[in-house]
Amino acid sequence: MNVAAAPKFTAADAARIAGELYGLPLAAEPLPSERDQNFLLRDGTGPRFVLKIANRDEALEVLDVQNKMLAHLAAIDTGLSFPRLVAARSGLEITPIAGDDDAAYFVRLFTWVDGVPMATVQPHSAALLRSLGASLARLDRALAGFEHTAAHRTLYWDLRHASLAYRHLDLLPEARRRMLRPFIDSWAALEWDRLPATVIYNDANDYNVLVDPVGSRVVSFLDLGDVVHSAVVCDLAIAIAYAMLDKADPIAAAADVLSGYHQVRPLSEAEADALYTLAAARLCASVCNAAHQARQAPGNDYLNISNRPAWQLLETLASYPADWTREVFRRVCGYSAEARSSASLVQTRRRMLGPSLSLSYGEPLHIIRGWRQHLYDAGGRRYLDCVNNVAHVGHAHPRVNEAIARQMAFLNTNTRYLHERLAEYIESLTATLPPPLSVVYLVCSGSEANELALRLARAHTGRDRVFVLDAAYHGNTSALVDLSPYKFNGKGGRGKPDHVEIMPLPDVYRGPYRGPDAGSRYAAHVADAAERTGGPAAFFAESASGCGGQIFFPRGYLAEAFAAIRAAGGVCVADEVQTGFGRAGSHFWMFQTQRVVPDIVTMGKPIANGHPMGAVVTTREIADSFANGMEYFNTFGGNPVSCAAGLAVLDVIRDEGLQENARTTGDYLLVGLRDLATRHAVIGDVRGCGLFVGVELVRDRATREPAAAEASQLVDRMKDLGVLLSTDGPLHNVIKIKPPLVFDRSDADVLLAGMENAL
Ligand code: PMP
Repeated sequence: MNVAAAPKFTAADAARIAGELYGLPLAAEPLPSERDQNFLLRDGTGPRFVLKIANRDEALEVLDVQNKMLAHLAAIDTGLSFPRLVAARSGLEITPIAGDDDAAYFVRLFTWVDGVPMATVQPHSAALLRSLGASLARLDRALAGFEHTAAHRTLYWDLRHASLAYRHLDLLPEARRRMLRPFIDSWAALEWDRLPATVIYNDANDYNVLVDPVGSRVVSFLDLGDVVHSAVVCDLAIAIAYAMLDKADPIAAAADVLSGYHQVRPLSEAEADALYTLAAARLCASVCNAAHQARQAPGNDYLNISNRPAWQLLETLASYPADWTREVFRRVCGYSAEARSSASLVQTRRRMLGPSLSLSYGEPLHIIRGWRQHLYDAGGRRYLDCVNNVAHVGHAHPRVNEAIARQMAFLNTNTRYLHERLAEYIESLTATLPPPLSVVYLVCSGSEANELALRLARAHTGRDRVFVLDAAYHGNTSALVDLSPYKFNGKGGRGKPDHVEIMPLPDVYRGPYRGPDAGSRYAAHVADAAERTGGPAAFFAESASGCGGQIFFPRGYLAEAFAAIRAAGGVCVADEVQTGFGRAGSHFWMFQTQRVVPDIVTMGKPIANGHPMGAVVTTREIADSFANGMEYFNTFGGNPVSCAAGLAVLDVIRDEGLQENARTTGDYLLVGLRDLATRHAVIGDVRGCGLFVGVELVRDRATREPAAAEASQLVDRMKDLGVLLSTDGPLHNVIKIKPPLVFDRSDADVLLAGMENAL
């Protein structure tokens, strides 16, 4: 439709026309329109009529479709109010008038419908979005019985003909064309003959949707200018495209509209599957069209009204996994084979899963997809994952997935045969470690790694005793619960076993030593205990304490503690299950930040990005002591699939520069958090190394009274804002931040803005 052929009458002209043709001597004021002219006519009581002057290029029969359609709708109870056509004094429903250009323009008069455009109502409640869907479904049902030959036309805005808009793709910059390509490819693959078609309204954009003054329900749909015979589901797709604009959770908003619609006019499976593609196609068509029209009519602001939000939305949608959005829509329509309600999942867990396991959050999350640093739930919400230190290189990383799938399809067996993957993996892993750490054992979890480390140390020293740090957690086996004050001193714990000595956690914020000599003073406790007990088999320590509340040790602590242990004949074990593989940023291993080399390093969590794997690396000497004839066999440990996964993780860390990202993004985040602390007294301490960060909350900065309830409230509130965090530390007052290493500055900004808001 030619925008240049839009009529150019003045308000005074409109008032004159209203008087002459309709005998209505009323004042006229212009309403926005892209290609026609609409004037509001008011009298003393308020708005009464809309005078519509059609585009010069508009065919009479198209206006006739609209008029007949309104007449059709007036006879059906849709629960909506539509404008009624008012005939001129001449009896004509459509009257031609001459413009300044001597061309004929068609004039019609409609009654005014009260309401406010949905676009002007903020925020859109879930109820309003469902009302939009339900109202549109009632309209579509009512239109099912309507026919008109003129509706069978090739219309630019018919999504079936979206290629007419995509012709203008060339006007867009290359990066934006590339972004739109997958949406357009998906549109091109649609099977239109599987989508039922009738005459549809085809323009439920948020300026055309009228809602009641409090914004609780839809009362009407305006402007039948785009009416066309097309796939019915396009009506919903267009409504959804606009409903998603400017939403923090566009897919959740879309799911609300869809659920309202589906209850009134259930979608077929083919329609449900096509819906997301069609909604995105509408946005793509809009931005292509805007580019084209901006070139034709540079001064027309109306053209750009929805352009910027549309680009923002397309960028967001482009960052989503498309399979997730389709799955959310399938779930709403009941077409997902695997979907079960959260309530039923909770029930099943309660009935059949061992009860010693908690769920995060009072209202548990039902996550169905992970992608990079985000998690996606069943209801259409996306969360920034600031907690998961297992999905190290990002959730569902394609290179890791591919490596696992390819190897699994080819061969998976145990380590008693030769295999390239195993050799490659242990070569690559040991290359990240300083000498003499050169002998590898592959296992299936962090617990198995620590369990084996314990056996190695005991075999090497012939002793039983173990030193651990206060508040530590090292794993879930019987022997490791005994090494974990976090467990044996926590709920259900049986207290410290005799063979275990607890060293004070070298915490310079809350512990007894906080000055420049804190490292030596904490280490002196290790030396004293070694002397008192005759020395342990092993000193187990994370290189920065995770369960202890993101505690970073004072300078020199591990060096002096290790020296004391070794002098007493013990072995130093660095538990790098949480802290390893580049998370520290400045170094690949957190122990390197303390300038020490342990005798045994244990690894888990991030090692294979979620594939169950762990590793122990030690010295030749210790390994030889353990080789006393008893074999160490681990059925799954070191299988080719695990090795392929582990290799892919090491490759991705290197190729994507993730250690460097941990350093720069971690530094950026720390600056932002310290800035937050200047405004929020509840933040007692901010500490971190790379993307291993803690924020300790206190009620009083002087007494450092822990603010545990506040910490848990903050975590809950952040979830509502779409950011996942957790609390930790013996006093439960430390916010833990340890996201996948693909977490970037814009994610840090989201986290910081959320915390500012929540605090
Ligand atoms: N060590 C540390 C420091 C850990 O955080 C954990 C797990 N939270 C483990 C060991 C045990 O690892 P897994 O759960 O894989 O057995």
